[in-house]
Amino acid sequence: PTDEAHSTPLLIKNLLLSGQRYERTQEIIYRDISRYDYTTFNERICRLANALSKAGVKAGDTVAMMDWDSHRYLECMFAVPMLGAIMHTINVRLSPDQILYTMNHAEDNVVLINSEFLPIYKAIENDLTTVTTTILLTDEDNKQADLPGFAGEYEQLLAAAEPSYEFADFDENSVATTFYTTGTTGNPKGVYFTHRQLVLHTLAQATSLGALDTVRMLGNRDVYMPITPMFHVHAWGIPYTATLLGIKQVYPGRYEPELLVKLIKDHGVTFSHCVPTILQMVLNAEGAKDYDFAGMRVIIGGSALNRTLYETALAKGMQLSAAYGMSETCPMISAGYINLELEAGSEDQRAAHRIKAGVPGPLVEAQIVDTDGNKLPKDGKTQGELVLRAPWLTQAYFREPEKSQELWEGGWMHTGDVATIDAMGFIDIRDRIKDVIKTGGEWLSSLELEDLISRDASIKEVAVVGIPDPRWDERPFALVVAAAGQEVTAASLCEHLKPFVEEGRINKWAIPTQIAVVKEIPKTSVGKLDKKRIRGEIAQWLES
Ligand code: ADP
Repeated sequence: PTDEAHSTPLLIKNLLLSGQRYERTQEIIYRDISRYDYTTFNERICRLANALSKAGVKAGDTVAMMDWDSHRYLECMFAVPMLGAIMHTINVRLSPDQILYTMNHAEDNVVLINSEFLPIYKAIENDLTTVTTTILLTDEDNKQADLPGFAGEYEQLLAAAEPSYEFADFDENSVATTFYTTGTTGNPKGVYFTHRQLVLHTLAQATSLGALDTVRMLGNRDVYMPITPMFHVHAWGIPYTATLLGIKQVYPGRYEPELLVKLIKDHGVTFSHCVPTILQMVLNAEGAKDYDFAGMRVIIGGSALNRTLYETALAKGMQLSAAYGMSETCPMISAGYINLELEAGSEDQRAAHRIKAGVPGPLVEAQIVDTDGNKLPKDGKTQGELVLRAPWLTQAYFREPEKSQELWEGGWMHTGDVATIDAMGFIDIRDRIKDVIKTGGEWLSSLELEDLISRDASIKEVAVVGIPDPRWDERPFALVVAAAGQEVTAASLCEHLKPFVEEGRINKWAIPTQIAVVKEIPKTSVGKLDKKRIRGEIAQWLES
């Protein structure tokens, strides 16, 4: 028998306290604008809690953030949930209409707004239904804003607040954070995570990034900088993990390639994470041209990591490793893991495994199932929908009962991704169910084709989608961006892909006979290939 009263709740405040205990002199840096140590960080969180309380924030309220990646964002990731309030991380790259939809749907009470987003906010403020209070975040000298319910500017509020705060204990199942999926179909959907879920996610992430693998990803000597926005699944939760470990952290604000490279150089950043397109942008920056990134480790997720990018980065000294997750999963599900068996094998085999979606982390169960929900073998060949269980998956979409039912059909969370799982546990994402190309009775992975096509040196970027075909059901269509000074044609692409057909890697129907060479490929708000828009554009060309 246990006595409930003696059980310690899993609360975000306890993650903060360990970081302060381990490394109180390590620094938290914001662009080339500010830097302070963990002791100051803790004091600022107390000041923020006092300031927010004074502005009327109570347990159960929703406090929204409209900011680029900053030390202030990090402070709010702690202070807001530590008050028992819910932090809504607004995706500032959504359209103003979608931002308005998410703010009303989440019932935001208080909003912290970076001065850069005031024009967007002004455009929607009259249609906001629940916001009572606004706070300005700014690096400018002007600390005033003409906002309804204006409580003041962040730094001024902190300066006026008391430097200590006693954070109370409460139910670990209280919601701590919420945000919206990018909504490539229909309205964005709200996901949410509790203190218990975020604490367990952080501990599991610290274990898998810090203690496992032969290349340790994250430890106390590292310098961490996110290049996945904090509004996008809490920058994959890594700011919580870095804080738990007391690691030096660098926050880059708005992502400007040259500044990102400068911050990496100036502060000796050793660990980061991003989607492939953002890494491309960093590697292509002027400042990166003759810089040696030796020792830097970067986790790539959100989209498939292809072999070309893996090797390009390696040639610059950067060790990449893929990971897999989604908004609904907090997000960490699996990450690259080179076990002793692979360590003893060939470099080629290790690279092939590092670019897969990785091995499920501690406490995660992964399965592949057929359309009736039957479990399929983990033989590295059989494909099925990836379904998951883990202590930190969103329990539902906020106020969307039907979609929540579909998400959790049969007691497992459905990812909408087609995958294989091999005997070592490696997940390989083959495609999203809705992006798989069904041609001549076979399923063709658009991701695999993109990987093979991107190995053509005359091609800088590629996206493949299925287009309707009267005879074959669907046929692949490739949208390509040519490398500088190169010419790409359907014939040159066919020449490039032929050897893969001969190897038996793809069948000949996989070679796109229709291609379009474009200047830019449409991307989503977080920099992924936007297949929905790509399909739309191709349909328009084909019609005209
Ligand atoms: P969105 O669905 O709007 O892109 P998410 O960030 O939730 O927003 O994206 C999750 C999806 O990204 C996954 O369902 C999967 O299709 C894709 N993804 C994530 N990691 C990988 C990976 N390592 N390899 C291939 N696809 C990935």
